[in-house]
Amino acid sequence: MSGGDMSKPLLGHGSMDGDPSITPTAGRTIGVLGSGDFARSLAIRLVCSGFKVVVGSRNPKRKAGLFPSAAEVTFQADAVKKADVIFVAVFREHYSTLCDLADVLAGKILVDVSNNTEINHHKESNAEYLASLFPACTVVKGFNVVSAWTLQSGARDGNKQVLICSNNQEAKRTVAEIAQVMGFTPVDMGCMSSASEIENIPLRLLPAWKIPIFLALGLFLCFFTYNLIRQVIHPYIREQKNKLYKIPIEVVNTTLPCVAYVMLSLVYLPGVLAACSQLYYGTKYRRFPDWLDQWLQHRKQIGLLSFFCAALHAVYSLCLPMRRSHRYQLIEMAVKQAMEKKMNIWVEEEVWRMEIYISVGIIALGLLSLLAITSLPSIANSLNWREFSFIQSTLGFVALVISTLHTLTYGWSRAFDENQYKFYLPPTYTLTLLVPCTVILAKVIFSLPCIQQRLLRIRRGWEKGRYVKFVLPSATGEYSSGETSSNV
Ligand code: NAP
Repeated sequence: MSGGDMSKPLLGHGSMDGDPSITPTAGRTIGVLGSGDFARSLAIRLVCSGFKVVVGSRNPKRKAGLFPSAAEVTFQADAVKKADVIFVAVFREHYSTLCDLADVLAGKILVDVSNNTEINHHKESNAEYLASLFPACTVVKGFNVVSAWTLQSGARDGNKQVLICSNNQEAKRTVAEIAQVMGFTPVDMGCMSSASEIENIPLRLLPAWKIPIFLALGLFLCFFTYNLIRQVIHPYIREQKNKLYKIPIEVVNTTLPCVAYVMLSLVYLPGVLAACSQLYYGTKYRRFPDWLDQWLQHRKQIGLLSFFCAALHAVYSLCLPMRRSHRYQLIEMAVKQAMEKKMNIWVEEEVWRMEIYISVGIIALGLLSLLAITSLPSIANSLNWREFSFIQSTLGFVALVISTLHTLTYGWSRAFDENQYKFYLPPTYTLTLLVPCTVILAKVIFSLPCIQQRLLRIRRGWEKGRYVKFVLPSATGEYSSGETSSNV
């Protein structure tokens, strides 16, 4: 939304009387110290949400033209006098230059919107530092997680959550109400000691993705090197053939499905390990080791990366016939067959293998897409627990089985062909089968009635070796009590 669209309030100040749910917050005067990008976007959004805005600048004459006409731009001291809630849209380094305003600011709510350039840059958070400079004010940390761009683009776009913390409940509530009227969702993060955490949030780079990304890169590197040795280095050493041209597409395209397939199995392996642990200890109340906990928490990201690699594999595979090398090879083959006067080149078994291989691959990719889509919060929120678990757990496992069929039809009988063992290294697909087949086998074993029943009981709270009180009616009709082991 342009600044022009927002130059007039959308909610008239009179709306305070009409809608009691938004009084007394909407319509009150809000102060903004600073006239930079954030201050300007904030003022526009506040005006648009029905607030009176007074901006405090060191040079109001020069900056007034940048703000909507409904906002008053004046000197800092003047602005501060007119509002009870003041947003400090100034960098931390300049907080000390505001100390002259300490007297006029006394008793007011200061909203610290600042961010740092590095995680844990200072010992104390910016909000705590501001509070130490203005002990007579109540400081609330908030709005730093929304950007100037988000503020300007309106409530329909961008991140809608505003994390807020303060030692003063009343001040926190006031700022939360302002955020709500502006179309944001305030999230109470507790007292001021959370300010550092809130200030670090905009600086974090994909925190939940680090481990899965390193895992995917590690697998990619291992499989890429393995395929490079088999497809490029082996023909060069054995036959002095230059196959370097295979690196950008062929080697990458044989590596991507390996990563996708192993990553998919790694989504289900921690569940298998967790079940083994529960069966072994006979309880669900024993904590899993930290690494297993971490692994369980990263399953969504691992699954999405698996889908990403599978989708790239599909695109690469579709592009294979476009390559010049492929065309030359086809022509070479045709000429060779013509010279050998071979008319029938149809190999029924190969035809069937490819048909099944491609069809099964498409189904596996379709299922992976479904898993990826349903893991998005907006879609996941529209599903109940049973639907979500059916898709992610049952269909996810079906996707793993179908991917295994895809891999097996790719390999067909090649695992038994000694020419496939370059430098005695087995074909790559045979290596990729190890983890997925272990997961599938474990799942089959867990589905045996005796094990499934035990697992179900454990997950409902039953514990091995736990003694429970029981009460039995005696022959005389009286009740006698005793103890027994619950697993008997
Ligand atoms: P900016 O464009 O550089 O504006 C900073 C403003 O601070 C200046 O326009 C200036 O206004 C005022 N100021 C007051 N005393 C000052 C001094 N001694 N020296 C220099 N400037 C002084 O920065 P910004 O992007 O608006 O960011 C302002 C605050 O919002 C920062 O703490 C930042 O971390 C936070 N923030 C920004 C964003 C964003 O998207 N930009 C997002 C979240 C949080 P006058 O000249 O009118 O006094």
